[in-house]
Amino acid sequence: MPAWSLRRRMMLMFCAVVGVLLAACFAGFYVLLSREVYNQLDQQILETVRPVIADLITDPYNEKDVDELNLRGEYFELLDSSGHVLQRSRNLRAGTFDLGSIVLQGHATVFQTVDYGRHGRLRLAAIPFRFGKEPVMLVVAISTLQADHILATFRGIILLILPLSLLLTALVSAWYVGKSLTPIAIFTQHAERMAERVSGFHQPDLWHPLPVKTPRDELSCLAETFNQLFDRVASALGQLRQFVSDASHELRTPLSVLQGEMELLLSEPRPPQQYQEALRVIDGELKKLSRIVEGLFTLAMADAGQLRLANEPVYLNEILEGSCALLTLMAQAKNIVIERDLQQDFPYLGDEVFLRQLFVIFLENAIKYSPPQTTVRVGVEQRDGALQVRFQDQGIGIPSDHLAHIFKRFYRVGQFGSSEAKPGETPSGGLGLAIADAITRATGGYIDCQSEQGAGSTFTVTLPLHR
Ligand code: ADP
Repeated sequence: MPAWSLRRRMMLMFCAVVGVLLAACFAGFYVLLSREVYNQLDQQILETVRPVIADLITDPYNEKDVDELNLRGEYFELLDSSGHVLQRSRNLRAGTFDLGSIVLQGHATVFQTVDYGRHGRLRLAAIPFRFGKEPVMLVVAISTLQADHILATFRGIILLILPLSLLLTALVSAWYVGKSLTPIAIFTQHAERMAERVSGFHQPDLWHPLPVKTPRDELSCLAETFNQLFDRVASALGQLRQFVSDASHELRTPLSVLQGEMELLLSEPRPPQQYQEALRVIDGELKKLSRIVEGLFTLAMADAGQLRLANEPVYLNEILEGSCALLTLMAQAKNIVIERDLQQDFPYLGDEVFLRQLFVIFLENAIKYSPPQTTVRVGVEQRDGALQVRFQDQGIGIPSDHLAHIFKRFYRVGQFGSSEAKPGETPSGGLGLAIADAITRATGGYIDCQSEQGAGSTFTVTLPLHR
């Protein structure tokens, strides 16, 4: 069975609630009204009967009082204590019905409504009193025609008003629910467009934010949340596309170099020296490729929250010393001195492999982006419950407008960046600082960069001692 739309369900609910409430109200009114109408009728009976009883009491020996009565629509019967008819009004004497037989005997006035077929309904009152010394009962009946007519009119009005009210409720609720649900239909359209955009069927410029009304209601809050969500999805999508295009660009260069070298070698037999040279180039390009792929893998793990760092007791100064040793050759090639201030022991709970990778990135960059015969300073100190590792160089520096971007993937500062590695350098392909950032975040720390163009840069890695 197909599911009912929200609009139809809400309409039905409104109509059902209004219908039940109206029906209950009308039923209540009807009960009150009929009670009131019958009370009035009873009062009328008592008013009618009072002079008759007064006559009977004042003149108990005139036995014809009731017998002589002949009022239209009003019937009288006088009964003795054993229920025998003593007198009855003329209009009863045709013998069509017998009031005494349906009235319960008692000592108090009793009212009762009975149905007399073609004579209609009658309201009866049985009033006991003393007739001389005899206890007797005067039974009076009045047609309920007038009272029933009032009640029937009221019922007719109800039967007209109830469906009209329901119809009105259905129309108003259809209009209101439709109006209220319009933003949801717009949200759905936006979400569909976003989904199409994510699947790549449409151009990015199709995205427009949802209108947010002021003062804000629940739907405006939802629209705002949708806008934020869509903005994030759009920016994540943009980043993803940029990332894929950058990654393929980075991978294409070494791959085309590899392809060129291979084609050259295979085109005709070459002297051994040329083979060696080509293999050296191929080795360099393969290292470049594997470093990029490794870097991408580390970043993918970090994105998925899977970058799990070990918690081994290590000495940061020792890891830093080892990292500097790894880059001694690279530094010597440019006559760069790595000055270390690492005599003091700095115990730390961390992952030696990742920490070494982190420090090598900064040292490599410091050497790469520094002119020959300069100094790179490395130091560590404890401050505010964290260890701060500092890498300071006298290199080319980073222009201030680029500082906010250098931790992005594949980001390079225009004229300074180069995907071509100089001899002894293994380029990160623009991923170095992004990986450094991911590793530092996984330790719960952060990186700060101070740089002045032409004067040098200082990267400070803060690693909290207690995560
Ligand atoms: P790569 O070094 O492979 O280009 P990174 O992510 O390590 O990638 O660095 C991003 C960019 O930040 C570099 O291209 C460079 O322009 C700039 N950069 C990083 N470290 C330094 C530094 N010590 N001095 C000057 N510029 C730097």
